[in-house]
Amino acid sequence: MDYPGNLFVVAAPSGAGKSSLVKALLELDSRVFPSISHTTRAPRGQEHHGREYYFVSDAEFDAMVEHHAFVEWAHVHGQRYGTSKKAIEERIAQGADVILEIDFQGAIQIKEAFSNAVLIFILPPSWEELRARLERRGEDSPEVIELRLKNAAQEMAQACKFDFIIINELFERALFDLKAVVHAQRLKFAAQRRARADTFRSLNIA
Ligand code: 5GP
Repeated sequence: MDYPGNLFVVAAPSGAGKSSLVKALLELDSRVFPSISHTTRAPRGQEHHGREYYFVSDAEFDAMVEHHAFVEWAHVHGQRYGTSKKAIEERIAQGADVILEIDFQGAIQIKEAFSNAVLIFILPPSWEELRARLERRGEDSPEVIELRLKNAAQEMAQACKFDFIIINELFERALFDLKAVVHAQRLKFAAQRRARADTFRSLNIA
């Protein structure tokens, strides 16, 4: 189904800087809205129900799966995460742009459900830098870091399924690239015809 709004899906191996990039984009561009996922994991730190995630019990998650409330859902790091239809359909149907920050399995499922979704994969500049970033973060034990690197290798092997690749070497450059993808999407014929209907009409463009 063709919706007036754009759907951007950002995936990356952990440590590539996906969350910071999406956060910066959301601060700069008021026309992009985040999709709030449901998760069975517990809130961390300052996280609030309904802001970062909808934090739900296993039973609540099961019920949503049963009622086909998710466009996609996946097991990530031992917890379940899902994108509800409600989180995206209402907004893109109204012409707003929505951005999803999800894992690569979910991204591929989104493309199956929304063929116009724009899949963006964020890569680190090298293995050494990915390892260094995970170590600098100081959140994980050496074993967990090894596991994240192993998972990263599997995830990066799927990069060819994405429409755009952004290499996050310098944050500002990667943010520029992300903004460029969003902007280019809005310049597509169908998007321009919707946004500039009067201009198109006056120029007799069907
Ligand atoms: P965290 O628990 O650190 O917030 O997220 C862990 C991972 O789950 C991240 O890679 C994040 O992008 C992914 N994730 C968050 N929401 C969803 C979702 O709705 N679907 C899928 N498939 N992955 C998600």
